[in-house]
Amino acid sequence: MKKILLILLFFPFFLSSQNIKSSSYFDELTPEERRIMVKKGTERAGSGIYIDHFDKGVYICKACNNPLFRSEFKFKSDCGWPSFDDEIKGAILRYPDYSYGMKRVEICCANCKGHLGHVFEGEKITEKNIRHCVNSLSIKFVSNKE
Ligand SMILES: [Zn+2]
Repeated sequence: MKKILLILLFFPFFLSSQNIKSSSYFDELTPEERRIMVKKGTERAGSGIYIDHFDKGVYICKACNNPLFRSEFKFKSDCGWPSFDDEIKGAILRYPDYSYGMKRVEICCANCKGHLGHVFEGEKITEKNIRHCVNSLSIKFVSNKE
């Protein structure tokens, strides 16, 4: 009886996307990057290095180097975080996120499951009507020139 109760108690955690299995992808990250990518934190608004970064290239996952966003997708949103109105096909996973009393959609790297940020639809900022709001600390820019 006790065992069943225990299973019931922990069952929601097994279902949740929120658990990242221990993975070597995150070993090289700084404590702050790990706080964001593994613990699903958020960098301070306006603090990210890629907010006003508009060079041509690709943004890859900081943890596993999976290509996530092309520079053509990036737009100036003034929201305090790098914003993209599209994603590289198959690169991103979405999960419902009800934390902090809000209903949001979390986005994660499809390869390593690291937390990237959230995605918002219907804001009418760009023609595609979608905003991937991404932590600079979750991504790494690779120039086309290289
Ligand atoms: Zn990744």
